[in-house]
Amino acid sequence: MKIAIIGTGYVGLPSGVGFAELGHNVVCVDNNKAKIAALKKGQLTLYENGLEDLFKANTQKGRLHFTTSMKEAVHEADLVILAVGTPPDPVTQEADLRYIYAAAEELADYLTGYTVVANKSTVPVGTGDAVEKIIASKNPKADFDVVSLPEFLREGFALQDFFNPDRIIVGTTSKRAINLLNKLYEPFKEKTPLLIVSRKSSETIKYASNAFLAMKIHYINEIANFCEASGADVAEVAKGMGLDTRIGNRFLNAGIGFGGSCFPKDTLAMARMAQKYGVCMELIETTISGNKKRKKDMAERIWQAVKDIPRPKVGVWGLAFKNGTDDCRQSPAMDIISELINKNIAITAYDPKAMDTAKALVGDKIHYAQDMYSAVKGADVLAILTEWPEFSAPDFSKLEKLMKRKVIFDLRNMLPSKEAAEWDFTCYSVGRKRKR
Ligand code: NAD
Repeated sequence: MKIAIIGTGYVGLPSGVGFAELGHNVVCVDNNKAKIAALKKGQLTLYENGLEDLFKANTQKGRLHFTTSMKEAVHEADLVILAVGTPPDPVTQEADLRYIYAAAEELADYLTGYTVVANKSTVPVGTGDAVEKIIASKNPKADFDVVSLPEFLREGFALQDFFNPDRIIVGTTSKRAINLLNKLYEPFKEKTPLLIVSRKSSETIKYASNAFLAMKIHYINEIANFCEASGADVAEVAKGMGLDTRIGNRFLNAGIGFGGSCFPKDTLAMARMAQKYGVCMELIETTISGNKKRKKDMAERIWQAVKDIPRPKVGVWGLAFKNGTDDCRQSPAMDIISELINKNIAITAYDPKAMDTAKALVGDKIHYAQDMYSAVKGADVLAILTEWPEFSAPDFSKLEKLMKRKVIFDLRNMLPSKEAAEWDFTCYSVGRKRKR
């Protein structure tokens, strides 16, 4: 099958690599010339676990191509996948669909033969109808179907999720489109349910799923606050809850709030969509405001520990919105850092993968360290903000030598608290009483 992928970001690039690995002929198109130039030279433009090897193998085998030409990508494609961004509109906070509509306009003229245009971008209900209209009016002779094909991959596990999805959702009523997508997903048939629904249901499934997961994170953070007040331990509570198969154990890690390029914007978009339809969605509204407050509360906890120190220094471990990615978009770590900068706290940060993406966001407002230990040199406090595995077993003797004060905010509950206590560190975690 010839597949064109429009947009080579965190969804488009791993998806393109994945489909090429399955043996398809994939052409990825992006209007960002610098990205395509790098990809053509064999340089990855984002970090994702395991991506590099498959990217190289498939470009070498001639199954994976990159271009800035929409014509080259879409011409003779059986399947065109839209994977462009849908960021929140800065004013209305609805999903901004300008990239989707522009891509639909641009691709319309180059469709040849019967083509399925599948939308992997997260889009409000009814966007499929709008895309269909745009293509049909630009190219009335085009023979095509617009399908909703929502993407559920997790950054950091994008390829693992590509090859082992929990489910594949296809939103269409077209038999021809269903036939083509059944062929595409043939290798997944044995182990993955493929659910065919209406386009509008499919578009809703994506938002309803993300909003639910965001609520789950917000819920466990509220339980963490309760545990701190009551003397229970949120890790034990989450474990006990998670053993109930109706609840499940995932997304029950208390921490600093959810972030990333999806949950914050998708909860906002869902809430705005509901308002448009005159539907009250209080749970989602509360999740959005509660998550904002969570990040401020976490910054406030750190501030309270250093506010009496002249020009305090905080060493930060972790900038990405979660481990396994270099993505700092809407990272709660970055929001906490912004709060601390506003309080005139000097920050030195380290992240195994996200230093460049963080630099692009906050520039020289903070210092960047070469490694995790350099970040805490002379620090009054260490704050752990992203759950990279290497932060879970630090050398406490090194920390003791390097830090000015032995205070750690383990806001991802990663450290062996007993060991920290043995080294006489004051360790604040979330959802349990401070152990010394
Ligand atoms: P991204 O910003 O990383 O990538 C989008 C890419 O599209 C950019 O490289 C941009 O240059 C390119 N682009 C924009 N307009 C274009 C055009 N007209 N022609 C060619 N290229 C164009 O975005 P992303 O994180 O990959 O997300 C894409 C969509 O997938 C969003 O709707 C997002 O909500 C959804 N999604 C993201 C994730 C995730 O984990 N990032 C997961 C599931 C769904």
